[in-house]
Amino acid sequence: MIWIHILGSAAGGGLPQWNCACVNCVAARAGKIDSQTQSSIAIGAGSEEFQNSWLINASPDLPRQIESTKHLQPHRNASRNTPIAGVFLTNADIDHALGLLLLRQQEKPLVVYATDETRAALAWLDRTLARFCGIEWRTATPKFQSLDSGLAFRAIELPGSVAFQFRDDTSGRMALFAPSVGSFTQQLRDAVHTSDLVMFDGTFWSEGELGQVRPGARSAREMNHLPINDGSFDVLRQSPAHRKIYIHINNTNPMLMPGSSERAQVELAGIEIARDGLEIVL
Ligand SMILES: [Zn+2]
Ligand SMILES: [Zn+2]
Repeated sequence: MIWIHILGSAAGGGLPQWNCACVNCVAARAGKIDSQTQSSIAIGAGSEEFQNSWLINASPDLPRQIESTKHLQPHRNASRNTPIAGVFLTNADIDHALGLLLLRQQEKPLVVYATDETRAALAWLDRTLARFCGIEWRTATPKFQSLDSGLAFRAIELPGSVAFQFRDDTSGRMALFAPSVGSFTQQLRDAVHTSDLVMFDGTFWSEGELGQVRPGARSAREMNHLPINDGSFDVLRQSPAHRKIYIHINNTNPMLMPGSSERAQVELAGIEIARDGLEIVL
């Protein structure tokens, strides 16, 4: 059995973002739509919920995400401990890696799975953490390797990032996590079609979305995020996965607004929109 817990469903900045007055951020401040923290997911395996939990990306909101998630809190049988076994990084983006710094009180080195490219880009963070717990880097490979409690995983290489696919060795079920997808590769397409659960980059609805609130902003693809409307939507819609969920959603994305045509289109296609605290058992 695989347990998955969405700790944060928003892209960098969160919803609302401190300096943003887009329609969604204004609605979130007014309590008309739910606020969402920055993108991080907890995953664990085994019969007992979250004995050992792994994080996929560690956002700057991690401390408060842990406090709102019982399974990630320390057991009361010892003063200092954590059920968090380590972190998987999809790339070196600040909103995915800054949470590592906030785990610096850890007693032993932090276990982090990442590509060599991500590790090199995070040399500054590595140096900072060396004065605290330090990082035990492990390489995420394209071949399945076993993790713990009958859970195996592999990295799917993408331009500028990786996706992770996890497999429950008992049931054979697979879960795909792809929060940063600049373009499809054949391998990613195959993974979308062979996974039981697909969590996919829902950052932007359209290519020029950010330019509407911030003139001169880079386009979605320039920021290494395939937009939903002419990028990932059709592929996800056609996937036979039991559950398909957009994650890592930017605060400008119109599908966040209840009643929007974009939201209706996604829901009609059987695709869900992530929210903080969503739990899935696979
Ligand atoms: Zn991000
Ligand atoms: Zn906004």
